[in-house]
Amino acid sequence: MSSGKVSYLQWMLQVLRRSVDLAGFPEEVYQILSKPERVLMVSIPVRMDNGKLVVFEGYRVQHNSALGPYKGGIRFHPEVDLETDMALALGMTLKNSLNGLPYGGGKGAVKVDPKKLSQGELERLSRGYARAIAPLIGDLVDIPAPDVGTNPQIMAWMVDEYSKLKGYNVPGVFTAKPPDLWGNPVRLYSTGFGTAVAGRVAAEKYLGTFEGLRVSVHGFGNVGQYAALFSAKFGAKVVAVSDTSGTVYDPNGIDVELAIKVKESTGKVINYPKGEKIPDPDASLYVDCEVLMPSAIENVIREDNVNKVKAKVLSEGANGPTTPGAEKVLYERGAVIVPDIAANAGGVVMSYLEWVENLQWYWWSEEETLKRIESIMENNIKRLISKYESLRSEKGLVTMRDAAFVVAVERVYKAMKLRGWI
Ligand code: GLU
Repeated sequence: MSSGKVSYLQWMLQVLRRSVDLAGFPEEVYQILSKPERVLMVSIPVRMDNGKLVVFEGYRVQHNSALGPYKGGIRFHPEVDLETDMALALGMTLKNSLNGLPYGGGKGAVKVDPKKLSQGELERLSRGYARAIAPLIGDLVDIPAPDVGTNPQIMAWMVDEYSKLKGYNVPGVFTAKPPDLWGNPVRLYSTGFGTAVAGRVAAEKYLGTFEGLRVSVHGFGNVGQYAALFSAKFGAKVVAVSDTSGTVYDPNGIDVELAIKVKESTGKVINYPKGEKIPDPDASLYVDCEVLMPSAIENVIREDNVNKVKAKVLSEGANGPTTPGAEKVLYERGAVIVPDIAANAGGVVMSYLEWVENLQWYWWSEEETLKRIESIMENNIKRLISKYESLRSEKGLVTMRDAAFVVAVERVYKAMKLRGWI
């Protein structure tokens, strides 16, 4: 790239390269995983409310199917392009593998700003995209889900469109559908729940316990709210939460249920009636705490502010909240970071459970679902920690992110080898 900035795909390929080298996997593993198996590019003509026709560009990248059907979300974003989608699809192969799911990786995208569309335009675009990719997806082939800019309603339109094309209902072809249309209510909070479980397991390992520890949560959207809520339910003390309105800090503990209600009714967590209010949303990154859950956006912990971060265990609810430079500083200081691909996998793990329900036409209770997701997440994080520990004693300076990529690539490698691909 002319700016000298590394693209997301280049960055993902560097990470892949590092894990292949670190674990000593054959070069053929890199050769296969650095390219998607199949790429579909589609044009979606949509009649806009003003009578004009706009043709949107979309993609579905099917990256690798060694472990099972392709699985991964659909992103509606104005800046997405095919290269970014390829990187995201590679990321899903690794995330699904790391988390022990019987899936390969895929990702779809449409170049659009969904906020600029009316509800009718959004529906026509979603149905158009589902029709366009229909020949290459299926409940045993490729199973999309929401991602940035898409949601359960969009999944409902897509599953309807696909089912109409088939002539019968196919609930398992999209996941994270509304609970009233073959979905599961746990999906609403599964990502944040998983982030709390990841934080708990890591804290128990490195700090001896999670109960009574001080937890701070950066970001109070779908992930942050439930990461905070379940941290409190697991016995930790949530001392800070923040959104773009600012940070609420209370060393005596925040009533997370109340904070969620305040956020729901006023849109701003800063309206929480108690505690200290700090205008800086990033103050939650710097408060005195043992566990930090950055659950908003990428690049919030950087080399220029990492020295203010006091937590010893981090659980990344967001994607890419810690830059590589900051990560190095934190590890040198003895902190550990459960990386995003493990700590925010609650969403896709729940997708898997919903898909199993859909294939059986049988639903578990919310309580039963939660038990299953908890045991899957807990085992995944424990397995990752033990790989991290063994790599660290063999190779020295490695991070839990390195270990995550090694675990992920290893599982795909074994499947490809057994299948005779390499
Ligand atoms: N888009 C989410 C992710 O990146 C969910 C994917 C899925 O459920 O298939 O993990």
